[in-house]
Amino acid sequence: MNNRPSNPLEQFLAQMGTVNDLVYQLTPDSPPAALAELRDALTVVTSTVNAMLGMPHSTTGCRFHPQGPVDPVAPPGWSTCLLCNTHRRRDSGTRRPDLPNPSTSR
Ligand SMILES: [Zn+2]
Repeated sequence: MNNRPSNPLEQFLAQMGTVNDLVYQLTPDSPPAALAELRDALTVVTSTVNAMLGMPHSTTGCRFHPQGPVDPVAPPGWSTCLLCNTHRRRDSGTRRPDLPNPSTSR
């Protein structure tokens, strides 16, 4: 039996259930990753509501930042979401090739 949501309202309700679960798991000692997970879940809900309102489809192809800025120099195999790619670059220690390196630009 398939329990996946079949329409936008069911998707919205399922996503809100996830948000609710994440909210109630938060404590004063929750790590930043827990807040980031909540933020991402809220972004997915916002995307679903936008879709329900007939807002335009994603400009980035990103499920978290569908209307976010586009990365004009996305590496091959990455999405074109500038926000996600900025996080990826930060995590991997790489920089956008078109931006100056602050450690060498003095
Ligand atoms: Zn993104």
